[in-house]
Formats: sequence, C-alpha cells, structure tokens
Amino acid sequence: MTARIIDGKIISAELRARVADEVARIKADHGITPGLAVVLVGSDPASEVYVRSKHKQTQEAGMASFEHRLPADVPQAELLALIGKLNADPAVHGILVQLPLPKGLDSTAVIDAIDPAKDVDGLNPTNAGRLASGLFALTPCTPLGCIIMAKQVHASLEGMNAIVIGRSNLVGKPLVQLLLNENATVTIAHSRSRDLPALCRQADLVFAAVGKAEMVKGDWIKPGATVIDVGINRTPSPDGGKDKLLGDVAFNEAKEVAGAITPVPGGVGLMTVACLLVNTVRAASAIHGLPKPAV
Ligand code: NAP
Repeated sequence: MTARIIDGKIISAELRARVADEVARIKADHGITPGLAVVLVGSDPASEVYVRSKHKQTQEAGMASFEHRLPADVPQAELLALIGKLNADPAVHGILVQLPLPKGLDSTAVIDAIDPAKDVDGLNPTNAGRLASGLFALTPCTPLGCIIMAKQVHASLEGMNAIVIGRSNLVGKPLVQLLLNENATVTIAHSRSRDLPALCRQADLVFAAVGKAEMVKGDWIKPGATVIDVGINRTPSPDGGKDKLLGDVAFNEAKEVAGAITPVPGGVGLMTVACLLVNTVRAASAIHGLPKPAV
C-alpha cells in the first residue's frame, strides 16, 4: 500500500491562517501588532528568495514586516549595531538574521547578540538551553514544523520510537528536545553512527536531516512508519534542465513501505516560514506578558 502524503502546502496554509487569527485578536484586544525584522547581508540568490517569501507571508498574516539589507562587506560592528537597535525597538518582536552570512562575518557572535526574547530563529544559546531544560523557549522553526507534521498523523507521539538522523544545532538537536517533550523515545544518529539502516528500521518515526540526496532507502523504513524528510538537496537534472530538489529520503522507494511521508518539495520546507510566524506571535505575547497564544 502506498503511504499517505503529508501535504506541507495544506498544513502550512492552515497554520498561517491560525496565526492571522491570533494576530487579529492580539491587535483587537491589546492594540499590539507583532513585528518581525529580517536582516539580509549580501545578495545570495537563495537567501533573497527566502527573505521575499518571509516578507510576503508576514504581511499576509497581518504583522509588521521590517527588512534590513546590508552589503556583503559590512563591518561586523555595523551589523552588531543594527542588532542592538532592533533589540531596543518596541515595534520589533522577532529578529531573524538570514544565514549563512558572507565570509568574514562571525555568525556565532551575531546570534549571541540577538535578545533571546526576540530570537525567533531559536538559535541563541539561551533558547537552546531553555529548550533542553524543558522551559519556555523560542525553538528553531524547521524542527517545530517537523513536530506539527508528525502530529498530523499521530495525535500523540508518546512512547513512539523516533530516530533523528543529523545532529545540527539548527535541526537535529532541537528536534530531539521537542520529541522528548512529546514523550517519544529518541535515537539521534549522525555520520559516526554504526549500522544506520538497522537503527532506522526500529523507528516508528523517521526524521532525516542530513543534506545527502536520497540517502535513506526504502528498505531502511519499518513498514507503516511515518517519515519526515527535512533534506533540501539541489541536484542537477540528468537531461540538463532545471535543477531538481531532492530530499534525504529516496521518496519513491520509501512511500511503498511507510505509512505516511512528507514530499520534497512540498513538505517540511513550507512549514519553516509558517513556524517563523508562529514564533513571532509567541515572542510578541511573551514580551507583553499576554497569555500564551493559541498557536
Ligand atoms: P548540517 O548542519 O550539515 O548537518 C548534517 C548532519 O547530518 C550532521 O549532524 C552530520 O553528522 C549528519 N550526517 C552527514 N552525513 C551523514 C551520514 N552519511 N550518515 C548519518 N548522518 C550524516 O545540515 P542541517 O543544517 O541540519 O540540514 C540538513 C538538511 O536539511 C539539509 O539538506 C538542509 O538543506 C535541510 N534543511 C531544510 C530546512 C527546511 O526548511 N526544510 C531547514 C534547514 C535545513 P556529523 O554531525 O557527524 O557531521
């Protein structure tokens, strides 16, 4: 039987609509407009696309969107000064610095400089530590999207065996913490793990965040498992046409074994910006001491 496709387009649209409802309620009840500031340094074409999409979706949700563009050769001190200004600006509740930064800029120092209360990318060590301690934290958007997708299939993840392949600060590690918060039993695998196929075959939930096109094969998947594919691998088309986007999972094989699976494109990627909007509403509510929003 072919797996159910977990459709990122539908799920992210529903989430954005819920965010827009919350934004409207916060405006009406408290006169506050959640605001997101995005900082783009340089002109990387992929980053330009992401920033445009963030701007559009922020405005569509009824939030204030502030864009700051700096040249690739901006001095570190000037970038840090901008972060300081945004930290102090009461109209800004979320700050996102588009990564990767051009060579010569220290992204760790930049992330450290963001006020943890406004760190909607969830990468500041304060938020990472709070998440690991089970406290309220702004969490990285992609792992948040992965959990929402898994919960479309399973109302509760409690007691399920999950494997997270990849241990980056951006995806793998925060995803493990979020899964623990859901009471799943978690294995975290990486490039030094032994017999990854066997580890994978034990999992009811497979999260692949590796960055290697179609590495996870169909025969690594336990029949009926739910597969969430984070990978976005731009791959030259064999006929010389437009590049193809491939996930970390061999989709055509895996969909014949899995119970449910996310496609690439059209899966987790679409959830990331929607979750950024969620984080901005959560940040605005926390900063103003409002009750936790319904998203
Ligand atoms: P990353 O920082 O490069 O981390 C990759 C992880 O995969 C590392 O922990 C690495 O292990 C592990 N790995 C590499 N080769 C492996 C192998 N052969 N077997 C097992 N593990 C292996 O990447 P990332 O930022 O987490 O991103 C992962 C993927 O997700 C990429 O394709 C990226 O484009 C995509 N992504 C998508 C979104 C989205 O919005 N959908 C957002 C972020 C990232 P070691 O730690 O041992 O080196």
